[in-house]
Amino acid sequence: MSNRVVEGRMVTPERLAELVEGERPLEAEAIQDADMDCPDCGENVISVGYMPNITEFVTAFKCQECSWADTDRD
Ligand SMILES: [Zn+2]
Repeated sequence: MSNRVVEGRMVTPERLAELVEGERPLEAEAIQDADMDCPDCGENVISVGYMPNITEFVTAFKCQECSWADTDRD
């Protein structure tokens, strides 16, 4: 299963991508550990790859404990 707890709530890959992107993605891959600590609070960061539209693939990073988030967009 790839659901994970983020800020105290269980999220699916689609929901995690939506939290970072602001819109629901077309598709999202399984949530993975990002092998980094949050720059704000030092807690675990997870990542999810998703397609916000048919021509773009984005990897989002999200802290499991606070509101910090980032993407690999330029
Ligand atoms: Zn954090």
